[in-house]
Amino acid sequence: MKKIGVLTSGGDAPGMNAAVRAVVRKAIFHNVEVYGVYNGYQGLMEGNIKQMNLGSVGDIIQRGGTILYSARSEEFKTEEGQQKAIDQLNTIGIEGLIVIGGDGSFRGAEKLTQKGYPCIGVPGTIDNDIPGTDFTIGFDTALNTIIDSIDKIRDTATSHERTYVIEVMGRNAGDLALWAGLADGAESILIPEKPDDFDSVIMKLKRGQERGKKHSIIILAEGVGSGVEFGKRVENETKMDTRVTVLGHTQRGGSPSGFDRVLASRLGARAVDLLLEGKAGRMVGIQKNELVDHDIIEVLKEPHEIDLDMYNLSNELSI
Ligand code: ADP
Repeated sequence: MKKIGVLTSGGDAPGMNAAVRAVVRKAIFHNVEVYGVYNGYQGLMEGNIKQMNLGSVGDIIQRGGTILYSARSEEFKTEEGQQKAIDQLNTIGIEGLIVIGGDGSFRGAEKLTQKGYPCIGVPGTIDNDIPGTDFTIGFDTALNTIIDSIDKIRDTATSHERTYVIEVMGRNAGDLALWAGLADGAESILIPEKPDDFDSVIMKLKRGQERGKKHSIIILAEGVGSGVEFGKRVENETKMDTRVTVLGHTQRGGSPSGFDRVLASRLGARAVDLLLEGKAGRMVGIQKNELVDHDIIEVLKEPHEIDLDMYNLSNELSI
């Protein structure tokens, strides 16, 4: 393989740039030409593709977002869209593609692979919702952003007698809520994997109230429902003054943490190696600190699992 391409797709995540840098540098290290595809699959179909050199990825390892931009594309989901993309790649002679993104992006990569075009997926999403890897690129940075915000909310919470509900991202996964809750000593954590815990949250709040507890922090994963609605229910049930903060897109931004930069560098470089080894339709991941790779579609059939020991621990520590 003498020419490869790289794109970022779906929701952006801090550390994607570090992954792009690793792909570009590792390819050039192996004397392989590397092309950046701008705006994800949309840009791929439109031929928005430029050759990258060592300097193209200088000074980006510390930057959030993605210099290749990201996009969502309905057209790419069609056969015609996928063929357009392959035609663009063939015109330049690009022989393999690395896709940095979430599960939707991986399904696109699998479609291209099924059409005979080799792709490798690199998991980049703050949600940590991809099976086959312990961590996705961006999760650690988002977690630290959440922790920073909750620390600040806690300062004001201690000055008032209030209950705080904080809604965090994660799509259908509770990882961000769980890790943030444990890291911040939240009184309660609500995650989609344990959806029926509303009553126990109320019970815990009332118990706290009875023993004179002045404030409480509840972390709610967006996959459970709306934080605003939940806050109203809490206020109705407990009659406690309740405030809701939806952290929103601040969780997606910022300079990637050291962990995410290292993870992105390792995964991006490994993806290049796999393409050069002639592999296709694989995703790279990290499990027990070892780099691994899995069939990209088989792995997505597995359910994403939350660490229930951690969930139980958070309950034990917030009695
Ligand atoms: P993420 O990669 O973060 O999960 P999306 O689910 O929005 O984000 O997917 C990103 C893009 O991947 C979509 O806009 C679409 O172009 C492509 N994609 C998603 N699902 C499929 C699919 N089943 N077949 C082909 N392409 C897909």
